[in-house]
Amino acid sequence: MRVSVLGAGPGGYVAALTSARSGAQVTVIHDEEVGGTCLNRGCIPTKTFVASAELLARTRKLGAFGLELNGSIAPNLSKIVDRKNTVIKTQAKGIRGLLKSWGVALKSGRGVLISPTEIEITAPDGSRETIASDNIIIATGSKPSEIPALPFDGKNIISSTEALDLREIPGRILIVGAGVIGCEFAFIYRELGSEVTIVEMLPRAVPHEDHEISEILERELKKKKIKLLTNAGVSKTVPHDGGIRVLLSDGKELDADKVLVAVGRSFNSDNIGLENIGVKKGSRGEIIVNSRMQTSVPGVYAVGDVTGGILLAHVASAEGIVAAKNITGNTSEMNYLAVPSAIFTSPEIGSVGMREQEARDKDISFRIGRFPFRALGKAHAMDEISGMIKIISDEPSGRILGAHIIGPHASDLIHEAAVAIRAGLTVKDISGTIHAHPTLAEGIREAAEDVFGEAVHVGKKTDE
Ligand code: NAD
Repeated sequence: MRVSVLGAGPGGYVAALTSARSGAQVTVIHDEEVGGTCLNRGCIPTKTFVASAELLARTRKLGAFGLELNGSIAPNLSKIVDRKNTVIKTQAKGIRGLLKSWGVALKSGRGVLISPTEIEITAPDGSRETIASDNIIIATGSKPSEIPALPFDGKNIISSTEALDLREIPGRILIVGAGVIGCEFAFIYRELGSEVTIVEMLPRAVPHEDHEISEILERELKKKKIKLLTNAGVSKTVPHDGGIRVLLSDGKELDADKVLVAVGRSFNSDNIGLENIGVKKGSRGEIIVNSRMQTSVPGVYAVGDVTGGILLAHVASAEGIVAAKNITGNTSEMNYLAVPSAIFTSPEIGSVGMREQEARDKDISFRIGRFPFRALGKAHAMDEISGMIKIISDEPSGRILGAHIIGPHASDLIHEAAVAIRAGLTVKDISGTIHAHPTLAEGIREAAEDVFGEAVHVGKKTDE
């Protein structure tokens, strides 16, 4: 069995490894360093920035921990970028090593499908070769979307890609879009010292999250003096004083040194030969696939962002595994019931399953349990008491439908709820499980108890 994989991001390289482990002869075609958006300009590089920003924030609070710093501390963005590049290099080497150990061939160049079994590769030196295989997996990913009022110029109007390579901290940064990327960068650049303003078209920050999570995040933005303008759009920009003057749809003007546009992503489905073989695309340019990750053309699969589903690295990898299993003889289907997501704001957000509004819209009977981090001893010891845990459970079964956390280590804590949802567990299964003390995870048990008003560390509720 020969398998060709187009793209070496978390969808492509995981599909390649899974296929190779099942005995397939695998070739990966990639036109940039392995690791895709996730490793080269997404998840991992932003987390190196978050790590620097968090360390800076904690160092600024040393006094509160009874520690004295003899000297000063200041961020050096150029060195932060250097460290980011080192981390990328190390990880890329790891992925290359893994692929090599399983005998996967790596071909550098642009691949174009010329038939359902053939890919033509144009190498960086212009030479061409065609490789044949029994199955193809397309994993070409996505890129930042552009809006007409804000065409990227790579200098003043930038995407998240360039925001990870600035060597100087911008004095004033305007971020368009208060989604995942916009909010992560807002906290990073604010901590580094920039004046940050976010312009969001919808009425709240992180509008895809549960509304209570948005409310708490908005409070945290305010605490950090990050300005959030909601229900606002950008109508025009003009160069101004070495930077940019931005005209908002309500007529307001804002000046900034950099404008970071983070309004979603579009799919890398053009110029890869889909029309040559008749692979069907949707209205947004996404490749249409079924639950086995098969496209409309037999033998051709697609996984990850390019399929336009949930744009997360771990979803791409899960889809890559499903495609590889189907190709190598084990029927497998995607199950999106419990997909956790993590946003690395300050504090972090972790969520999985249904939001409260979704349960209302679907007319589901539900109960909610909440627990604040400030009621946990461990959170006080860490001096990280902002945020809360919210659990939504089905009524009367008690089955967990969704969990939403904003607070310290939310990105790790959310996985207890993900397992619970996937396994069909109830709030009683969680509240009946002894959780270690002192930990942040105790908050999950208490939120589960709170669904029935039984949380030990919540005071008696009075009518008044
Ligand atoms: P997003 O969809 O999360 O947010 C885009 C935001 O921009 C939305 O709030 C939207 O209302 C707003 N918007 C759209 N057009 C606008 C306009 N003209 N003016 C003002 N606001 C506008 O998209 P993103 O932040 O660009 O992230 C892209 C994808 O990458 C997401 O799907 C996300 O899941 C993924 N991602 C995930 C992580 C993570 O998991 N930690 C991190 C980064 C990116």
